[in-house]
Amino acid sequence: MGKSHVPLTGGCLCGTIRFQSDEAPVQGYYCHCTMCQRSYGGFFSATLRVPGRSFKFTKGEPKSYRSSRFATRSFCADCGSPMPFQFDASQDVWIKIGTLDHPEDWPMTDGAAWGPSQHTFVGSKIAWEQLGDHLPQMQEYDNELSKFLSAT
Ligand SMILES: [Zn+2]
Ligand SMILES: [Zn+2]
Repeated sequence: MGKSHVPLTGGCLCGTIRFQSDEAPVQGYYCHCTMCQRSYGGFFSATLRVPGRSFKFTKGEPKSYRSSRFATRSFCADCGSPMPFQFDASQDVWIKIGTLDHPEDWPMTDGAAWGPSQHTFVGSKIAWEQLGDHLPQMQEYDNELSKFLSAT
């Protein structure tokens, strides 16, 4: 990946939890669903999807909870930073881009060399939020994720 930092490393604000992915991310998601809005306290979540086989916690363990019948979210019990989440039906792990040590390596922009990004659940976005890019916009999730969400 040239000068990008692989393994990817990151952690929570207070430093209790650290994690690593030995492989580069495969996709970026701006998720505008109401659960992400509440979970992050912001307009949307910005996450990078990494292969589950390459992900591990290297320090501490997050607290986790079932946020829907599809997925489990986690956070640092000491400082509250959102930690990675996982769908039941996928081995992959979704990392919040702001918890990485080097988020600058993975621009979630149109035509980024490392991989594609998209907006999901734009039907739920806060109405006055303006999207100022040209990434694909999905009403819900992309086809692959929709398939396994509807299968559960
Ligand atoms: Zn913490
Ligand atoms: Zn979401």
